Amino acid sequence: MKAAVTLGKLLPLTEYPAVVQRLASEAVRVSSNAYAPYSLFTVGAALLHEEANGTDDVSITAGCNYENCVYQSSCAERCAILTANAQGKRCASAIAVYGRSIKADVPNPPFDALCTPCGVCRQFLVEISQLSELDLDIVLVSFDTKHAKVVKLSTMLPENFGPKDLGMNISQWSRGNSAASTPCKRARDDAPATVAATLSTN
Ligand SMILES: [Zn+2]
Repeated sequence: MKAAVTLGKLLPLTEYPAVVQRLASEAVRVSSNAYAPYSLFTVGAALLHEEANGTDDVSITAGCNYENCVYQSSCAERCAILTANAQGKRCASAIAVYGRSIKADVPNPPFDALCTPCGVCRQFLVEISQLSELDLDIVLVSFDTKHAKVVKLSTMLPENFGPKDLGMNISQWSRGNSAASTPCKRARDDAPATVAATLSTN
């Protein structure tokens, strides 16, 4: 998405490509399904997959946080990653994240407050990043749901440790095993005409 997306600046969503707006709205939508009776902090995440079938098709996998009484929680980002994996989708080029407190006695944050992925989720995103052989775009959706800031994973987790540091070549794992699984890396072959750039001109 680098050709069409401004990095590191909070902007109205309307100034982003259509695919970023779609991703952001999916993260906001799915956050309302969060099961968060303990933290009362609901989070939604939406992963963007680019299809490898020679078209500009994209798909989105959503996830939301899920807690339990022994505080073994699953974050929204990891929920989206694991859901996508179960569908045979191991690669993604972006993820949108939206989170907010729903506690009655917590005052609303400023309109531009952002919910960023926790450390564990950033490490999971490193795995996706290396499977996809690209630096993931992270779309941080503001509290008011009308703005977003896009940052690279390498900015959120600089000098990160990944499979390559173990001498691993995980490229053979980039495609799920089922017949319906989605191959990776369509976009890199015809960069910089990314999916986002293409959609934004439609
Ligand atoms: Zn997390």
